[in-house]
Amino acid sequence: MVIRTKSHPGRRRVLHAAAILTLAGCGSAPRPGARDPFTLGVAAGYPTPDGATIWTRLAPEPLAPDGAGGMARETVRVDWEVAEDERFERVVRRGVVEANATGAHSLRAEPAGLRPERVYWYRFLAEGVASPVGRFRTAPAFDATPARFKFAFASCQQFEQGYFGAYRHLVAEDPDLVVHLGDYIYESSWGRELVRRHDGPEAKTLAQYRNRYALYKSDPDLQAAHAAAAWLVTWDDHEVENDYADDRSEGLDPRDAFLRRREAAYRAWFEHMPVPSRMEPRGPDMRIFARVEWGRLARFHVLDDRQYRSPQVCPRPGRGGSNVVSDAQCPARLDPALTMLGLEQERWLDAGLERSPARWNLLAQQTLMASRAERNRQGELTYWTDGWSGYPAARRRLLEFMAARKPANPVVIGGDVHAFFVADLKADFADPRSPVVASEICGTSITSEGSARLDRLQRDNPHLKFADGTQRGYVTMTLDARRAQADLRAVDTVKRRDSTIRTAASFVVEDGRPGPQTAGS
Ligand code: FE
Ligand code: CA
Repeated sequence: MVIRTKSHPGRRRVLHAAAILTLAGCGSAPRPGARDPFTLGVAAGYPTPDGATIWTRLAPEPLAPDGAGGMARETVRVDWEVAEDERFERVVRRGVVEANATGAHSLRAEPAGLRPERVYWYRFLAEGVASPVGRFRTAPAFDATPARFKFAFASCQQFEQGYFGAYRHLVAEDPDLVVHLGDYIYESSWGRELVRRHDGPEAKTLAQYRNRYALYKSDPDLQAAHAAAAWLVTWDDHEVENDYADDRSEGLDPRDAFLRRREAAYRAWFEHMPVPSRMEPRGPDMRIFARVEWGRLARFHVLDDRQYRSPQVCPRPGRGGSNVVSDAQCPARLDPALTMLGLEQERWLDAGLERSPARWNLLAQQTLMASRAERNRQGELTYWTDGWSGYPAARRRLLEFMAARKPANPVVIGGDVHAFFVADLKADFADPRSPVVASEICGTSITSEGSARLDRLQRDNPHLKFADGTQRGYVTMTLDARRAQADLRAVDTVKRRDSTIRTAASFVVEDGRPGPQTAGS
């Protein structure tokens, strides 16, 4: 995709006066007879102290079978503007971006030169129609120490299994930032008591992945959450295929064929996420791991644990993907050569932790990091090989690094397992004397099924402070210099859009004291 973005203060402002007048006169509703190209909403992401990435995609017919969103082949010029007020009376940046068919008429702009730690509003104009208005908050200056930072994180939103009403409550909490930890789409259909259906079979082609994003983004509560705040995003497996690992598919597809599928899936992800243009994929490769600063208060280490990982050990015969195994069945699980992040990303993470100036180091990644052992019928401890428990040596390398170098307040946030988990992280989970070196808050799914009561796990996993797979929702985290509070937010049902919400549990991590504690204790 070719994107040309021009940010033009000063003289160019005059040249675009006509477009501005059109935008200002247009409101957010299409002219009579005009088709609305903004059916997928708008989004912002990756805020810095002086800007962010803003995104939309032109798709007047979002589910057109060819994946083109109802757009012709022509390149379209799209105006964008960023204002200090919701009514766009004080526009501070504007520009023009070209949206073309190669990129499914998706587009992004990266306005810069904004002021730190303040809210901005943005919108687009295409084909004579103005988009909905989105807003984002810029990050604090790199050397600033904001008194408070509130963000929410979410994951796993199978469209068929429920409505995304949890996001309505998330928006009401007015977070400074939203973090999505993967399974934004699901490539295939599954589950019970479906409330709506996918538009087609399992996604494998670029057109199918594009339409899957378009379908998911048709949910009004998801669109509202994108419009309400900037997001950071990483992916998990279902953005491509269940349980894939690097170039290995669950069905052991030929490597070239699977990499073509991964390329299509990554490209569609790029086309639909508010990520900076520097993340544009090259063939089947796409670097999305990134650091994001919130002044001196917090640093996000956004990780990618899918693209570079070793294949899961001991899969079922004739298959790739995950399994549940004991050490007697699968000594290979303990192989020190296994990696979850790949060696380059491991080194990058270590360096980012060691040199971090932040009070809170937030590892934003896909899945449960704490050891999760479950007894089988023979009484042996078994482990699910797709999570960090399938890569215990890699986990131990990271946690031993933290124990030795002591970066400030590491807190791991995750998703994937469709359950709330709150845990102490230690280099050796089998040794009760192994010190707690980090804290973990794993959020449950927005909608995806996971029905188990998991409190029985705590007997064999004393580092788990909380474990519950029966609830759907998200996590809100509020940080200041002294503590980080995690509120586990749970909807009553995902089978209705208008479900109420409540706090299932709250935990705090005190500055300088690794390990979550029950809030109020
Ligand atoms: Fe999931
Ligand atoms: Ca997953």
